[in-house]
Amino acid sequence: MSQAIKEAVGAKTEVKTYRNYIGGKWVPSRTGRTFESTNPAHKAEVLGVLQQSDMRDVDAAIEAASKAFAGWRRTPAPARGEIVLKAGIILEARKEELARLMTQEMGKVLKEARGDVQEAIDMAKYAAGFGRLPHGETVPSELRHKWAMTVRVPLGVVACITPWNFPMAIPSWKILPALMGGNTIVFKPASDTPIIATKLVEILEEAGLPSGVLNLVTGSGSEVGDPLVQDPRVAGISFTGSTAAGRQIAELAGRNLKRLGLELGGKNAIVVLDDADLPLAVDGALWAAFGTTGQRCTAASRLIVDKKVEKDFTDLLQERAAKMRVGDGLQPDTDMGPVINEAALKKVHEYTEIGKKEHARLVHGGDFAGDQGWFYRPTIFADGRKDMRMAQEEIFGPSTLVMPVNGLDEALEVANSTQYGLSMSIYTNDLRKAFHAMDEMQSGLVYVNAPTIGAEIQLPFGGVKNTGNGHREAGTVALDEFTEWKTIYVDYSGRLQRAQIDTALGE
Ligand code: NAP
Ligand code: MG
Repeated sequence: MSQAIKEAVGAKTEVKTYRNYIGGKWVPSRTGRTFESTNPAHKAEVLGVLQQSDMRDVDAAIEAASKAFAGWRRTPAPARGEIVLKAGIILEARKEELARLMTQEMGKVLKEARGDVQEAIDMAKYAAGFGRLPHGETVPSELRHKWAMTVRVPLGVVACITPWNFPMAIPSWKILPALMGGNTIVFKPASDTPIIATKLVEILEEAGLPSGVLNLVTGSGSEVGDPLVQDPRVAGISFTGSTAAGRQIAELAGRNLKRLGLELGGKNAIVVLDDADLPLAVDGALWAAFGTTGQRCTAASRLIVDKKVEKDFTDLLQERAAKMRVGDGLQPDTDMGPVINEAALKKVHEYTEIGKKEHARLVHGGDFAGDQGWFYRPTIFADGRKDMRMAQEEIFGPSTLVMPVNGLDEALEVANSTQYGLSMSIYTNDLRKAFHAMDEMQSGLVYVNAPTIGAEIQLPFGGVKNTGNGHREAGTVALDEFTEWKTIYVDYSGRLQRAQIDTALGE
């Protein structure tokens, strides 16, 4: 077809259609409906057409995962690890291509998209090793001729429901440890980033994952996520997303006493004391507030600064923010990409209006940045107080609030004054103050002289308070969310021995 005819027919003829992956086959949805994935930097650019599935597809996927469970559970863990490792090697070979696609689908600048893919590579290499690590303990029994031990066992069929902000990293944090634990999976990715999710599934297929072990169903939270959460055949749910959706899922999961891991919202704070290295603190604040366009669960949307240095800090931050270039993340000179979609853009601007009404002082930004895509200027408010909505509610965009305080105690009191508890950081050169903050900060992650973002996969990740329900992802505990303990006693004495009653001193 000539270019002219192609244009006449419409660019849509060129757009690829992606399918669900159920029982080892790429299949269309039973609904016959589809939706589009678009580029947030170029609203009109359609990147692909996806299946808009419903409960019938969910049912088929759960059925396939249930059937595959017995075989996968019995596959030796080192053999499972070989497949996961191979997926990591494929990811590594295709890193650049995947990162570019991610920038197009999600908007984050290319450098950060590479980091997102790298996190999946790191997780694959790390999780593969679980296959050869101990998966239980032998423990002395109080009785003679008796062994006591524990082994990890899989949950069964696990649902992995993920957000769009780390479209490769977050699914890998869930799927790879869940696979290593011996579970089979139904994966429901965010509707804003279904293509990159499909790529991850394709790669695991190529790495040799048997049919039915991992199933992908695209579609909305209500039509796909909700039936998945409610189905009694699903034994465990791993969810990362908003606190509102997390609450709803927790209620449903609670009714059926399902295992549930929740990673939810944040309202993270950087504390800057008067003795801090100010340029270093500004570097950190800029990266934590505007990296990934502020759309990280660990983004610093509160900058709690000692009054003695607040003016200098805010001036420096404003100066740096003014130099940031907002645009298409594929362009090498772009510092900050768009927000994910129109609703997100409206929400960020709504908080600008709220901030003004609450008499926070707009220092920088507060406005849209071009209409090609969902662009917003890096936005800084000052004179923040802890009772402001801006200081309490998650904005999830490039908007941050400077909050003046008097000294460490007030800084910590303000830092701890929200319902969330994911990540906090302190900039100080006083060792005693740093340790005091490490003790007192109510958050799952604490950074000293570093920003609130930048987790590494070999450490546990997660939050306290309304950020979650006590589970942690990644790190040495990564399998805890996806396995149960089985305790086994073997008595080879040949007679009845009663724990706590029969003495072990005799024969
Ligand atoms: P979201 O709206 O809650 O969506 C997350 C995922 O859940 C999506 O796949 C969504 O599907 C699905 N979903 C929505 N409602 C559902 C329901 N009732 N039942 C089952 N599934 C449902 O969150 P988001 O806007 O994508 O992500 C941003 C949020 O995630 C922020 O609050 C952020 O802090 C949080 N987050 C937390 C962490 C962490 O580790 N703590 C990490 C990253 C992000 P659709 O896409 O089809 O709507
Ligand atoms: Mg999109």
